Amino acid sequence: MNEEKLTALSQTIKGTVITAGSPDYDSARKVYNGMIDRHPSAIVRCANVTDVQNGVRFAREEDITVAIRGGGHNGAGLGVCDDGLVIDLSSLKGVRVDPVTRNVRAEAGCTQADLNHAASGFGLVVPAGIISTTGIAGLTLGGGTGYLTRKYGLALDNLLEADVVLADGRFVTASPKQNSDLFWAIRGGGGNFGIITSFLFQGHPVAQVFAGPMVWDLEHAQELLEWYRETSPQLPEELYGFFAFLKVPPGPPFPEELHLKGMCAIVWAYCGPLDKVEEAFKPVRKFRKPRLELTGPMPYLALQSMFDALYPPGDQWYWRGDFLNEIPDAAVEQHLKFGSQLPSLKSTMHLYPVDGFASRVGRSDTAFSYRDAKWSMVIVGVDPDPANAAKITTWTKDYWAALHPYSMGGAYVNFMMDEGGERIKATYRDNYARLVEIKRTYDPTNFFHINQNIAP
Ligand SMILES: Cc1cc2nc3c(=O)[nH]c(=O)nc-3n(C[C@H](O)[C@H](O)[C@H](O)COP(=O)(O)OP(=O)(O)OC[C@H]3O[C@@H](n4cnc5c(N)ncnc54)[C@H](O)[C@@H]3O)c2cc1C
Repeated sequence: MNEEKLTALSQTIKGTVITAGSPDYDSARKVYNGMIDRHPSAIVRCANVTDVQNGVRFAREEDITVAIRGGGHNGAGLGVCDDGLVIDLSSLKGVRVDPVTRNVRAEAGCTQADLNHAASGFGLVVPAGIISTTGIAGLTLGGGTGYLTRKYGLALDNLLEADVVLADGRFVTASPKQNSDLFWAIRGGGGNFGIITSFLFQGHPVAQVFAGPMVWDLEHAQELLEWYRETSPQLPEELYGFFAFLKVPPGPPFPEELHLKGMCAIVWAYCGPLDKVEEAFKPVRKFRKPRLELTGPMPYLALQSMFDALYPPGDQWYWRGDFLNEIPDAAVEQHLKFGSQLPSLKSTMHLYPVDGFASRVGRSDTAFSYRDAKWSMVIVGVDPDPANAAKITTWTKDYWAALHPYSMGGAYVNFMMDEGGERIKATYRDNYARLVEIKRTYDPTNFFHINQNIAP
């Protein structure tokens, strides 16, 4: 892209066009995963929908690659590319709440923190994930699992409508009534079909929750996993608990004798009436007393950001996932082996429940196929030091390879790295053919291909 072209582009943009010569180029091209180091020719930091359209039209005319950036959290770094144009929506943070319908309209640059802080003044929450800095756009378009999944579904189950800029620069709305095929596809199909500029969500009245981790010594991990696989799906839908292998962070509120110790845990979140907490936790209290318990009442916003400080942007990050509907004894054995060998303080394995409300949606009602899964497993190698990148990656891949035979065959699309076309097909199963057809309608030239790509 020469100077002349970049000047022409800048003249059509109300926001900013950032290039290699700009002082903020290096910070603007950085994404959450410190392993990713890509150099786009330009970044259009959009100020409005017209900027998005002008960015798309420019890239089309110049025949250059486009990456779409929301919160920049994608593990595979799909919010940035080499050489092409990044259409960056991170400045679009408007949120409007309708207290009567409880509908929440959010622009596509919102993080979970932006969205749910704005909704909290109205006593509302939109279901999303477990780290508040994650972008709502990428999260919702892939699925969006989190503390409210069992009660209110995935983030995408709460999507009512979206505004979309298509590959030819046209602006359309996708909803059950308008472009319903597109609306079906964007609920799980990621950024393959267009650039979403705003989302209309159904909010829910959740202000206070009862939440936090219970932690056990590793010697009880087998007993805990066996109990968890039986009990978790039977719990009331207001009660959500994800299983974790972890190392205890070396600081408060954790007691010193546990610092850096490998342990196993369940992180609980109860979103029902607070006077019913004890009743909901009755089956949990029947299990062995935890070595450490840090549960208590708290605002939902506090829960949503509970792990933010442990996982700031810039760490080396490599993850692999799979959906599970059972955890047989042979899988438990492998979990015990790899879960006791976490390669760094921040590396972990989580089992996120995706049952309850999320499993009552039909598997072809949205592009998200794994409605019959009970858990979305993620194995994550994380460390701040690039020198440890190979170590955390190898551990993740080995752990995943040992567990994959016990999975349902495919992974949550937002927990995938660059794993190839067969893995993408395995994510969508029977929905894949319909996604290809809709891709042919809305993006026949595969203009949007920096994603978990569904090729037309
Ligand atoms: C620390 C951490 C915690 C996480 N926790 C959870 C969790 O609890 N639950 C969960 O479900 N997921 C979770 N994720 C995964 C997360 O959903 C994905 O990483 C997701 O891609 C992040 O979205 P983003 O907008 O931040 O990503 P970006 O990197 O900005 O974008 C990723 C991709 O999403 C698409 N995209 C983004 N914005 C748009 C848009 N406006 N229009 C069209 N396409 C777009 C594009 O294809 C883009 O390449 C977590 C990730 C991290 C790093």
